[in-house]
Amino acid sequence: MSQSNIVDHIIHGRASAPAENMSNIFNPATGEISGHLALGGPAEVEMAVAAAQAAFPAWAATPPHVRARVFFRFRDLIEREIDRLASLITAERGKVHSDAKGELIRGLEVVEFACGIPQLLKGEYSEQVGNGIDAVSFRQPLGVVAGITPFNFPAMVPMWMFPVALACGNSFILKPSERDPSLANELAALLGKAGLPEGVFQVVHGGKPVVDAILDHPAVQAVSFVGSTPIAEYVHHRGTAAGKRVQALGGAKNHMIVMPDADLDKAVDALMGAAYGSAGERCMAISVAVPVGQATADALIERLAPKVRTLKIGPGTDPEAEMGPLVTREHADKVLGYVDAGVAEGAELVVDGRNLNIQGYEKGFFVGGSLFDKVTPDMRIYREEIFGPVLSIVRTESFDEALGLINQHEFGNGTALFTRDGDTAQAFLGQVQAGMVGVNVPIPVPMAFHSFGGWKRSLFGDHHMHGPEGVRFYTKLKTATLRWPKGIRAGADFIMPTLG
Ligand code: NAD
Repeated sequence: MSQSNIVDHIIHGRASAPAENMSNIFNPATGEISGHLALGGPAEVEMAVAAAQAAFPAWAATPPHVRARVFFRFRDLIEREIDRLASLITAERGKVHSDAKGELIRGLEVVEFACGIPQLLKGEYSEQVGNGIDAVSFRQPLGVVAGITPFNFPAMVPMWMFPVALACGNSFILKPSERDPSLANELAALLGKAGLPEGVFQVVHGGKPVVDAILDHPAVQAVSFVGSTPIAEYVHHRGTAAGKRVQALGGAKNHMIVMPDADLDKAVDALMGAAYGSAGERCMAISVAVPVGQATADALIERLAPKVRTLKIGPGTDPEAEMGPLVTREHADKVLGYVDAGVAEGAELVVDGRNLNIQGYEKGFFVGGSLFDKVTPDMRIYREEIFGPVLSIVRTESFDEALGLINQHEFGNGTALFTRDGDTAQAFLGQVQAGMVGVNVPIPVPMAFHSFGGWKRSLFGDHHMHGPEGVRFYTKLKTATLRWPKGIRAGADFIMPTLG
């Protein structure tokens, strides 16, 4: 094992690797081991928290516009290196290069939002709330905060969190996914280059032992988590029990309703990108299409099936590829298991993505696009998140039936409606039980200056990520009542103070 292939923790701004505890990093396109990851535990968390605590007071006291300058420089550095960073994402995560670049751009938008932190942290001032008395409300950073992130967006999801957290004046510990950990270290290096002081941003790699140590550490004030629903629920439960503020975003099963009046060609294009882009490994992927009316369903499938059959699947480095491999062999096998389960449950497999063989990449973790028709709500392939290139069609007879499906589902992350009718769109917007809603937009991921988050079992906690909700999550409100010397009266008051 060569030293250069070891991904270490970044603590105190420097790499620090324990010798023995390591896991493998794979290239999903070739199936080969491409590196090794240092797996941390409570000792590494302890070191990182100590460094973060030491760095916090000076960083918190740095004027917001000076903190913002770090993010202006960080933004430029990422933009300059975007192709190299995207290649790194492709190498460990498998997604095609253009998609990897897209996630960096979406992450950069949050950095741009964080550049406006002086404006975002402006407080409120009320003059003369009593005689010679003013009141002021303002927000202060929490202290040491942490982010725990999933494999599917190794750049964008951490960048939903740390730019806002750091710009607010907190120090931040990132625990990235073990499956594609290198990008986190690149981001740490670029933050250092941009002028972030040592200890303000650190990376501790590993799995459950690191997560548990973060959740239990009394000095960690808040935890942002993104990942699967069972782990999100666990993180929220354990973190809040330890007295922390926790936002934990979980899994999804995003439905797209296609009304009879929709532009069907556009709906089909939208479904192709939303269901099979990034090999379906997106929390905002559409995994259920809900055509209204049998004629709509037949026409949709007639147009969709040939496109799914001819999806260009290959390594993420191939500029022609529309879809790359899945992240690990284990995950590819899980997705293939769901296709088997769908067949066994009686759904009609219109396009079978099993047994895909990509020449020259026989050991890669590839799964072809699959399309199921006549899926019913009792089937596992409908109820559970597959997180792969598998689209289920659930046929309905009316808009109300389609809406009811979404509203009864366990998850409520994103959803979309394709229609030309304003009344239907308005009813959908008002009544649908999901956090992010698209009308003729298949993947309605909010811009950085809005906030990202689902409903129901897609989010545990009270705050969505980034945007105004992000600023609220990473700060606490202080309200001061100020009596100026001239207004001070003589004598003690023993009643509840009333100002006047
Ligand atoms: P995951 O839940 O397996 O892992 C997420 C993080 O939790 C990782 O850092 C991992 O190391 C850690 N973890 C895993 N098992 C743990 C355990 N038992 N105890 C403590 N920590 C543990 O998720 P994943 O497979 O990396 O990512 C895919 C999932 O993330 C999907 O369910 C997807 O929908 C979800 N996701 C959600 C959003 C959203 O915004 N709602 C965004 C991206 C991904």
